[in-house]
Amino acid sequence: MSTRTPFIAGNWKMHLDHLEAIQLVQQLSYRLNPRDIAEVEIAVIPPFTALRSIQTLIEGDKLELGLGAQDAHWEDSGAYTGAVAPPMLAKLAVDYVLVGHSERRSRFGDDDDVVARKLGAVQRHGMIPILCVGETLEERDAGRAEEVVDRQLRAALAGLDRPHEVVIAYEPVWAIGTGRTATPDDADHMCAAVRRIVGEIGGDTQAVRVQYGGSVKAGNAGDLLARPDIDGALVGGASLDPDGFAAICRAG
Ligand code: PGA
Repeated sequence: MSTRTPFIAGNWKMHLDHLEAIQLVQQLSYRLNPRDIAEVEIAVIPPFTALRSIQTLIEGDKLELGLGAQDAHWEDSGAYTGAVAPPMLAKLAVDYVLVGHSERRSRFGDDDDVVARKLGAVQRHGMIPILCVGETLEERDAGRAEEVVDRQLRAALAGLDRPHEVVIAYEPVWAIGTGRTATPDDADHMCAAVRRIVGEIGGDTQAVRVQYGGSVKAGNAGDLLARPDIDGALVGGASLDPDGFAAICRAG
C-alpha cells in the first residue's frame, strides 16, 4: 500500500471567465463532502484571469482546494509581453504550476529546454511544478513511447537535487481531449516507468507522485486510480463539470 496522497487536479485550459470560475468552484465545494475526500488532495487550475478570484474564495471560505496555474515564464520579470512570471503567481498563493503540457509543447513551441527552465523557476519560487510528459500516437505506434517519456523526464529533471518533489503527469498526447483513454494496464505500466526513471535521476521513487491524464472521466477514474503506480489524475474536459469532477475526486 502506497503512502502517497492521491492528487486530482482539474486543468480548465482556456475555458471560463472569472465569474464562471467562481461558480464552478462553489458548485464543486458543495458537492465534495469532506468525509469523501479526506484522503485525497484536489486542485483546480483555472486560466490566469480567474486566479485572483479563486484564491480569494479558497481563503475566505477555507476550502480544502489547491490552486494551480497553467504556465509560467522562467524569468522573474522583464520585457516578455503577454507572459506571467513565477513571483506573480507565488504572490497569489498558487500551489502548483503546469509545465510542459502537450498543448504548450505543440502549440506554443515549449521545447525540452524551455520546459526545464520553467520548471526550475517555478520551484525557486516555492511552488510545485506538475511536469507533463507523454508520447504522440506516431511515437507509440513506432514503439518509442517509453524512450520519449524518458527523454522528456531527464531533460526537465536532470539538474534537480530532489526530482521527486515535482508532480509528474503522464499524458499520452493521443488520449488528451480525444475520448480515448490509455488502458489502466498501459497507464500503470508507464507510470511505473516514470517512477523508475525518477529513481535513476536520483529521486525517491516512493515519494514521487505520478498522475495519469488523458480523457479521465467519472466512468474510468476508479479503474485507473486503483492501479498501484497511478497516484492521481490530471483532468481536462471532465473537470469543467462539477458532478463529474466530484465523482473523479471520490474515486481517488
Ligand atoms: P482531457 O485533458 O482530460 O480533456 O483529455 C487532459 C489534459 O490535457 O490535461
